[in-house]
Amino acid sequence: MRIAMLSVHSSPLARLGGKEAGGMNVYVRELARELGQRGVPVDIFTRSQDRREPTIVPLSCGARVINLHTGPAAPYDKNMVLTYLPEFVSRVRCFADGQDLSYDIIHSHYFLSGEAALRLRRSWGVPVVHMFHTLAAMKNSVARSKEETETGQRIAIERRLLQEVDAVVAATPLDKAQMVWHYEADADGINVIPCGVDLRRFHPQSKATARAKLGIEAHSKVLLTVGRMEPLKGMDCLIHALAELRTRRPEWANTLRVLLVGGENEQRPERWNAEQRRLAALRAELGLGAQVVFLGAQSQELLPSYYAAADAVVVPSHYESFGLVALEAMACGTPVLASNVGGLATTIEDGRSGMLFPVNEHGALAERLERLFDDETLAGSLSHGGRQRAESYGWDSIARQMVRLYSDVIEDSQLAVYSARRELVS
Ligand code: UDP
Repeated sequence: MRIAMLSVHSSPLARLGGKEAGGMNVYVRELARELGQRGVPVDIFTRSQDRREPTIVPLSCGARVINLHTGPAAPYDKNMVLTYLPEFVSRVRCFADGQDLSYDIIHSHYFLSGEAALRLRRSWGVPVVHMFHTLAAMKNSVARSKEETETGQRIAIERRLLQEVDAVVAATPLDKAQMVWHYEADADGINVIPCGVDLRRFHPQSKATARAKLGIEAHSKVLLTVGRMEPLKGMDCLIHALAELRTRRPEWANTLRVLLVGGENEQRPERWNAEQRRLAALRAELGLGAQVVFLGAQSQELLPSYYAAADAVVVPSHYESFGLVALEAMACGTPVLASNVGGLATTIEDGRSGMLFPVNEHGALAERLERLFDDETLAGSLSHGGRQRAESYGWDSIARQMVRLYSDVIEDSQLAVYSARRELVS
């Protein structure tokens, strides 16, 4: 079985924590690596943003990234990708022909790749498994401004994908239900397979050592959040919660710290996007200049130390189809407090493997943080419960489930072709 994976608009090798690179990139990279190591070769096709990049970049044994030059060799708005999609698809076909390769299945990620997958299916006649990662209808339902809303064209493409692809992978039962509610999708074609976490990279380590390594004061109370700087991540809620906590517990005022990983750091304000500027303005307005620190995007190699250094990881998102950051922090044994939405509500069992709070309610978040800092036993049991929960999400188990789905889909599609041929003959 050979897989053509499509991640058109964002490369699995992109720098994480920017506007367009986060959970999906990690997912594509890790799943492909795991499949490759299990003897299932994977080629990940992506749009190259730099002419100097080599076409083929090996990822691990059996998995490769294929950089294809389409449109301007520079970052551009993801919606522009649709304009260049026919060129991208023809380059994928040329690559496969040139290498004398054929694929048994196309696994597409995000609506843009889904559109490319349907076009490739017409040439190759192989089935398509699709994963949305986020749904435009859900993003629009929580959007607070016009800039945050997704286009009608995206919604139409997502609706069509749900009708036309051979199988859809949802990250959680709720993700699946949302496809049915918002797009009237047929539930039978949607398979729930969760996202995974690299348990070798993300594991518990000493808080003191991690703090010493990162230069974080040993006695401070550290709240960490990690994510792309965008309004959907709700980082403003954490800043408000910090202000509330300082009012409730003035004795903690000088020791509380909020560390924000993602976007750009303090030294490069000229590169902050609109959301990061908004958060900086809020920080100034609440007089939290010394307590809230922008650390900029950090590599996956360094993230386990940040998780280990924190007293709690807060995920205040308005919507997450899954929410890898929460799972990574749980795997590191750091208590997680997350808003009670989407995948977060599935991964975290409230009070056992983390704590949930009502979305966007900074008072509720501050109350839970206060409880956590006051109760070492609670912190210990959430840390233990989180790690235990994360252990069932290793990539080996996720890849096994995916291979089973690929095999079923290939078999169904071969049966369909066989039946169609028989009908023609009779
Ligand atoms: N991430 C990272 N460095 C950063 C910010 C994020 O490596 O500076 C990674 C993070 O470890 C996680 C992913 O990006 O694996 C974010 O995934 P999540 O599902 O939480 O959010 P999404 O980006 O899908 O909205």
